[in-house]
Amino acid sequence: MTTEPTPVLEVRALETCFFTDAGTVGAVDGLTFSIRKGDTLALVGESGCGKSVTALSILRLVPDPPGRIAGGEIVFEGRDLLRLSSREMRRIRGNAISMVFQDPMTSLNPVFTIGDQISEAIQTHESVPRRTAWRRSVELLELVRMPDPHRRVHDYPHRLSGGMRQRVMMAMAVACGPKILIADEPTTALDVTIQAQVLTLLDRLKREFGMTVLLITHDLGVVAEWANRVVVMYAGRKVEDAPVDEMLTNPKHPYTRGLIACVPHLQAVPSAERPPLTEVPGVVPSIVELGRGGCPFAPRCAQAMARCREQMPPPTAVVEGHQAACWLLEEATEA
Ligand code: SF4
Repeated sequence: MTTEPTPVLEVRALETCFFTDAGTVGAVDGLTFSIRKGDTLALVGESGCGKSVTALSILRLVPDPPGRIAGGEIVFEGRDLLRLSSREMRRIRGNAISMVFQDPMTSLNPVFTIGDQISEAIQTHESVPRRTAWRRSVELLELVRMPDPHRRVHDYPHRLSGGMRQRVMMAMAVACGPKILIADEPTTALDVTIQAQVLTLLDRLKREFGMTVLLITHDLGVVAEWANRVVVMYAGRKVEDAPVDEMLTNPKHPYTRGLIACVPHLQAVPSAERPPLTEVPGVVPSIVELGRGGCPFAPRCAQAMARCREQMPPPTAVVEGHQAACWLLEEATEA
């Protein structure tokens, strides 16, 4: 009998809300998933589906007000992060769990050199002298393959290209040897040619540091190449959860199928027989406007039935390790 590896992080029934003039927005609505040690789990969906808010919730960085984590548990190494004091949480952030953001320019401070900023990241969590922190900053820049690291360590962020800035962010993120690295759209702001370099670097750092990665992306092409498990989100909820190969060959939720159909090389048919490139019709609804009760994808779903508009589909097992939340699965079982 094989035993499933223990998850390194478990998100259980997470609820994160934003209180706005237009009403309460349930940005993350009952989200449950777990990440096993050493996995790269991709959280996928269009803008506004709650991926980044999930990442901020894990690190307890949701701006309050207007946001608030209203319920659920985030269990890391046996402790619910939502119950830790602010002091305990500061020790975890950037140390055991660190994050790389989409736009490094907004995360780096323009008035300090990158050496100052990496050194500060080290000294926040380790009591080492300034000189040691500076030497380690150069080593970290070497590790992330920054060209000419001894000179670049003295540079200010504006002197670096977008790809170099993202390398600095990764150097800061791994400075204290985190167990989990959250990468929120780490290549979205970069040229296509640089994207592959940054993702290759992320994968190498993951292996060298023995990290587990939560990769947030809207790009299923990136998922296919770099992740081994996927959680698809729509309107704050999980709609499908499976190993990557299973998801790409046997997607069950119409939204997942639509996302896959948008990426031509992921369609598992010869190019001559491939249907034309499509897009998922419509847009992610404003979560303020969503009724609670029906399937949130119903307004965009070509297969919606009457019950879809009235009852929320529960997560249903497809095969072991693969779940989807769609009434079509129940219809198929009953047929
Ligand atoms: Fe479409 Fe209904 Fe499935 Fe929702 S539950 S995805 S509306 S078929």
